[in-house]
Amino acid sequence: MSRETADVVIVGAGIIGLSIAHQISRRDRRRVVVLEKAPNVAEGSTGASCAILRQRYTHVEAITVARDGLRAHRDWARYTGLDEPRARFHHTGVLWMMNETPQAVEAGRSRMAGLGIGVEVLDAAGVGERFPALSACNEPFDLSGETEHTCVDHDTFLFETESGFFDPVSAAQDLLEAVRGVGVDVRFKAAVTGVRTSGGRVDGVDLTDGTAIDAPVVVNAAGPWAPRLAAMAGFSYSPWTIHPIRAQVIYREWPRDVVPGPIPVVADSSGGIYFRPEAGGQQILVGSILEEDEQEVVSDPDVFNGNIDAAFRDVKIHALHHRIPSLPYRGQITGVAGMYTMNVEDVHPVVGPTSLEGFIVANGFSGHGFKESPSIGSMVARFITGAESDEWDTSAPMEFFSIDRAPIVLDQKAVLA
Ligand SMILES: Cc1cc2nc3c(=O)[nH]c(=O)nc-3n(C[C@H](O)[C@H](O)[C@H](O)COP(=O)(O)OP(=O)(O)OC[C@H]3O[C@@H](n4cnc5c(N)ncnc54)[C@H](O)[C@@H]3O)c2cc1C
Repeated sequence: MSRETADVVIVGAGIIGLSIAHQISRRDRRRVVVLEKAPNVAEGSTGASCAILRQRYTHVEAITVARDGLRAHRDWARYTGLDEPRARFHHTGVLWMMNETPQAVEAGRSRMAGLGIGVEVLDAAGVGERFPALSACNEPFDLSGETEHTCVDHDTFLFETESGFFDPVSAAQDLLEAVRGVGVDVRFKAAVTGVRTSGGRVDGVDLTDGTAIDAPVVVNAAGPWAPRLAAMAGFSYSPWTIHPIRAQVIYREWPRDVVPGPIPVVADSSGGIYFRPEAGGQQILVGSILEEDEQEVVSDPDVFNGNIDAAFRDVKIHALHHRIPSLPYRGQITGVAGMYTMNVEDVHPVVGPTSLEGFIVANGFSGHGFKESPSIGSMVARFITGAESDEWDTSAPMEFFSIDRAPIVLDQKAVLA
């Protein structure tokens, strides 16, 4: 057995663990070790992520976290310090087709504009001019397709002009290169099997190969495996319920000759879906915005069903046809299921120090973690190093996500929270 020391151990080389490592390494050169049980980056939630970078949220703090994350994603080469990063920002805009009153849309626009976010209100004609493939109907309809539906154009939509989506796996690879370039020790096939504690504080971790690393700070960035890691430390999230759920995504071939582009990221309340371009514009990726589709708890994240359900596929494709009437009924459909880690009480993460001194959590991101990762990295790095904020930090306080908070009040506990 070998015995080593580090200043900070981060468990998990997903987008959260790597962002924390990156944000620490931008501040000082303390010894940071990132431990990943898989043979590569992004083998958990990050690899399955749709990586949509939208900024609309219910609460100003959450909007700020997303806004500040987007800043890094839009200027990725400078943020990572890499001359030629692999990941690319896809600037499509995000269109909210949510069946809201003009007053609600205007209130959303004004609040986001007040935070420096590019937003416009579009009417049905405006949607048609920019995105000719999209229907502007927002009438609820029978998702089973059994009841006839007549489309009625809705008149007010919110459009985020600067938002879009990112390449999640390439982003993790870029961060790996960036942190290794400045001396962060990232190890693969390095599963943590124990978290040592004494006298109410964390002492370090044990690995499968018998290595023990002594460290005063251990960060739980283990994504869907976070509850297991917490249990190793004898730590309970109570009163929060943090667990992985299965999240499905469909890929529908995009026949460009009959479905004209561009297509933005769309959140569509009448169909209960979100969608965006995929595979360089060869496919349309479709996911769910419904709470009911975030209920399947994964009891063992090492063994879960990565295929899509036929019923899910059929309903979501039906909803996509409503939004894109020119989409032909023949076309290749594939899909995958990944895992979100849900915080059941308010679908926002718990981030920061815990009652176990030195044990820091960054868990329970639901469907928000990718866009938030630069901001979460900055919050945790600022806490660990005490170094003041700079250009790439968020102005949102980490306390908003504190494990000691009361649940954040929300209209719906789903991905759009
Ligand atoms: C289908 C889907 C769509 C999504 N869409 C979006 C979106 O559009 N926008 C958005 O912002 N977010 C989205 N998300 C959410 C986002 O992807 C996640 O919140 C984010 O990737 C979480 O990153 P993470 O680093 O916490 O977890 P992960 O990527 O899961 O990383 C955790 C890592 O820890 C490692 N690990 C676990 N236990 C141990 C151990 N004991 N020892 C060593 N290593 C360990 C795992 O192997 C894993 O690699 C989506 C997620 C899914 C599944």
